Amino acid sequence: MTNKIRYFIANWKMYGDLRSLKTLNKVIKFTRSNRNKRFRIIYCPPFTLLSSFSKILKKSKINVGAQNIHEDLNFGPHTGFINSRMVKSLGVNYVILGHSENRVLGETNIKINKKVLSALKSKLNVILCIGETLYEKRKKFTKKILKKQLVQCLKGVNKKTKIIIAYEPVWSIGTGIVPNNVELENNINFIKSLIKRKFKNHIILYGGSVNPKNIEKINQLNLLDGYLIGGASQNSKKLIDIVKKTFN
Ligand code: PEP
Repeated sequence: MTNKIRYFIANWKMYGDLRSLKTLNKVIKFTRSNRNKRFRIIYCPPFTLLSSFSKILKKSKINVGAQNIHEDLNFGPHTGFINSRMVKSLGVNYVILGHSENRVLGETNIKINKKVLSALKSKLNVILCIGETLYEKRKKFTKKILKKQLVQCLKGVNKKTKIIIAYEPVWSIGTGIVPNNVELENNINFIKSLIKRKFKNHIILYGGSVNPKNIEKINQLNLLDGYLIGGASQNSKKLIDIVKKTFN
């Protein structure tokens, strides 16, 4: 176990309402009593809860992120959307971009790139999701897809930027299926080799069905800076277990 900071990004997707706020208490307590451990928890709740999360977590070491933004930096006629400035004004410091659940709705790499640039202008830290579909994996297109996503989504980003990449094979999200460590190591090393050419300050996460039962096996890799966790992150006990097992 190295001394690097581990990131645990909790993606709540379209789950949670005001009653969910009480689940934060346990995690705040856990974070307080483990100040000596080098980890960072970032909650990404739905837009409706960003402001409440931000207020409750203000005095803790836990950060808040949004799950998406519109690419336009200015106010505008975009029904149903919010932009990076609006998010930032709530005390939010991160944003997940390029999640496969949004790519499947038509978000292209070009559009994601505009969102990345807009987020960075508003001083949000970008968590960029990349990953291949099952079809692409079977066709052995994985590396080609990962490279294209990285190059196109990060076009024009200053090389001094701290960039967070979440490798999320689409076939692993919400399915309970996790790549074996050989496959994971191969793909993570490939991503690292590309990203380090331009960005010295990079953080590489894995996401896809991470839970307290499989975390120890994935941790054996010792290559990752942390995890993007969907389903399991809505349960504070499971989230804490994942963090604890990473530091065992
Ligand atoms: C995700 O939403 O990015 C994710 C990884 O979900 P899950 O952990 O539920 O597979």
